[in-house]
Amino acid sequence: GCPVNYRIHQLKNLQRLFTERHKEIADAINKDLNKSEMMTQLYETLGLEGEISLALKKLKEWAAPRPVEKNLLIISDTVYIHPEPLGWCCHQGAWNYPWAVTIQPLIGAIAAGNAAVIKPSELCVHTAKVMEDLLPLYIDKELYPVVNGGVPETQELLRQRFDHIFYTGNSVVGKVIMEAAAKHLTPVTLELGGKSPCYIDKNCDISVACRRVAWGKYTNCGQTCIAPDYILCDPSIQDRVITEVKKAVKEFYTDNPKTCPDYGRIINQRHFKRIMTLMEDSTVASGGDNDESDCYIAPTVLRDVIPESKVMQEEIFGPVLPILSVSSLDEAIKFINRREKPLALYVFTSDDKIIKRMRDETSSGGMVANDCLVHFSVSTLPFGGVGKHTHTHTHTHTHTLVISLFI
Ligand code: NAD
Repeated sequence: GCPVNYRIHQLKNLQRLFTERHKEIADAINKDLNKSEMMTQLYETLGLEGEISLALKKLKEWAAPRPVEKNLLIISDTVYIHPEPLGWCCHQGAWNYPWAVTIQPLIGAIAAGNAAVIKPSELCVHTAKVMEDLLPLYIDKELYPVVNGGVPETQELLRQRFDHIFYTGNSVVGKVIMEAAAKHLTPVTLELGGKSPCYIDKNCDISVACRRVAWGKYTNCGQTCIAPDYILCDPSIQDRVITEVKKAVKEFYTDNPKTCPDYGRIINQRHFKRIMTLMEDSTVASGGDNDESDCYIAPTVLRDVIPESKVMQEEIFGPVLPILSVSSLDEAIKFINRREKPLALYVFTSDDKIIKRMRDETSSGGMVANDCLVHFSVSTLPFGGVGKHTHTHTHTHTHTLVISLFI
């Protein structure tokens, strides 16, 4: 493995990349997804810089041998755990937060003394190029090479033998990755997607709830793995929810989101068409405007959506928010439990008993009460999914929880 001081040197160089090259990083993401510079700083580089600082602070401690409790048989022996790197890792990232999802696992790999192949998503064309150009200027290009390419190149890459594969992306390709890994019995970590439900209790502050849901949904044009996918609520509040989401959209993105620099675009025409098809058999309550040539879909709300509709058959991954009726908390819990365990689960309520019941009677990667997305930012909480959403090597699942105040 790599000496600890060399790892520290590499991490410091990576840190320097983010301070010195912020403009190039932001410009490329802007071309790929119309993200503003502020968005890139908040949602991509800030977290990475925090992660690097944490690794720099803790690395020596993490790498040091750890003595363990002994039993009678070996009472006079020296017994300890000696951490060692796995070897060669392969990191394949998705395109939606291309730096965050591709480089975050790399920081861990470097800190632990591994070598790693970095494979950015070919869908974020400009960012993939910038990564290929910039990373070798800052970190060891022999130990951390960037490989760009589409499906054939990736499949060729996956034929090689790695010691660990870390993949972030959709579950269909997740299966391809796991199959390729199985040929060499290589351990994998899969960070996948899915539908993350959002239950709004009729007795909560609906205006605050909708403002936060609108933020969670329409940030990056809905292309966030933990975006609230759909709303479950009592039919009596549906109209209020629509009005309040509309109000928030206007506040965030003006009357014309298309010209608002803070509103993103769909990554490409294929995804644009996929999202438009998902809306076909539902009723648009607000939004719905679109422009294929610009990959633009307005922040949209769908009303009276039924579980059988197209939009409920797969992760939406776009700026479309369906509202489905449930007549009680019991019904909401049943609805959630009949489906795959969500990556994220959101509940808006001022009643602690409802939060507790949601926590105890459902299972998900992470649950947040009265806010969206924020659990991702808490570096002291584990992040990941459960069941079909993620494959990791732990045998217990931690249902992480963040409870926000209504203010
Ligand atoms: P994508 O299509 O870019 O695929 C991701 C990676 O897989 C890329 O590096 C790509 O080159 C590679 N790839 C694609 N097809 C392949 C194939 N046939 N064989 C081998 N490799 C292949 O990105 P995506 O899957 O569209 O990303 C969006 C998905 O990622 C959503 O489902 C989202 O929820 C999920 N996601 C999850 C997390 C998380 O932390 N759990 C984070 C971000 C995104």
